[in-house]
Amino acid sequence: MSGTQGNRRSIISATVDFDAPGKQLGVLRVPHSVHRSAYGHIAIPIAVIKNGKGPTVLLTGGVHGDEYEGPIALSKLVRKLNTTDVAGTIIVIPALNYPAFMAASRVSPIDSINLNRAFPGNRDGTVTEMIAHYVTTELLPRAAYLFDFHAGGSSLHYLPSLLVPFYGQGDDSAEIDRLVEAFAPPRVIRYDAEKALSGEDRVISNYARQLGVKFLTGEFGGGSSVNIEGLRAVEGGVLRYLDASGVLQLNEQLHRESCRTARSDRPQSYTMDDPGLFAFANGPGFFEPAFQLGETLEDGAVAGHIYSNVRPWDEPETIRFRTGGLAICIRTFAQVKAGDCLGHLARPV
Ligand SMILES: [Zn+2]
Repeated sequence: MSGTQGNRRSIISATVDFDAPGKQLGVLRVPHSVHRSAYGHIAIPIAVIKNGKGPTVLLTGGVHGDEYEGPIALSKLVRKLNTTDVAGTIIVIPALNYPAFMAASRVSPIDSINLNRAFPGNRDGTVTEMIAHYVTTELLPRAAYLFDFHAGGSSLHYLPSLLVPFYGQGDDSAEIDRLVEAFAPPRVIRYDAEKALSGEDRVISNYARQLGVKFLTGEFGGGSSVNIEGLRAVEGGVLRYLDASGVLQLNEQLHRESCRTARSDRPQSYTMDDPGLFAFANGPGFFEPAFQLGETLEDGAVAGHIYSNVRPWDEPETIRFRTGGLAICIRTFAQVKAGDCLGHLARPV
């Protein structure tokens, strides 16, 4: 990392040895000296399963602490996998922003930071910045693949969807396509990683790319709850994804399991790069949506109405989507402020 951080290594330590064979269950220790625990640390659960030569795959959930399909599916995965099934290394961290996960919150209760806006992180920074720095300097350099599982968190609900970033022309696209086909999600959203999030580059995907790590992510539910369709898509999909990446040989039982869980042979592809697909509140009030997840909306369709909290009988403000598409995301909370996302659509390609 740049500046005064130099090449000094992270002070986060691991109780697992990334180079040792076998199945290890341990923690990452983030030093955290506080009033009630002078020499304490935060213990982030981590599993490493290594067997012989092969690629290293990093699987993360709980980058946002109020998203659950990833943490549940990854915890089950660790229990299922035996060392002999693996050819290479699988690193699993079900709840990467562990303090946020323990608080059921998108951001950490310690520093109020969103981990997926903290990259590349800071060795000498706050707890969340230290976690991001550890990922950038210790985990990503080991990995050939990263799958980071998300959902909409407390404020959004998503139709379970795999998200595939692209960067201009064609890097790794054939191999990414093969992994997408293996994961076989209900729907696939391809997005221009440089345009999405309005040029936001403090995200984990940006540093995965810089370090040559093949990256996939997805939104598998939301509303700080567990989406059963999304959970099944992740449980089966991750087995087939690991198989396709060459790090896992599906034994008979795992193969049966990967077949039993949901799989879409020809998932519809969408894009969400047109800003007109998104609806935002212009001011405060309470939001009455005019659409449901899964509906297809025309260009200019009404997203909903926002009523004044102080003069609720006044004519509400009508909010529209400029561009039509499939409704894949909707806000959970009715109370809104200016700038809150009310939902978004995705356009079939
Ligand atoms: Zn998330």
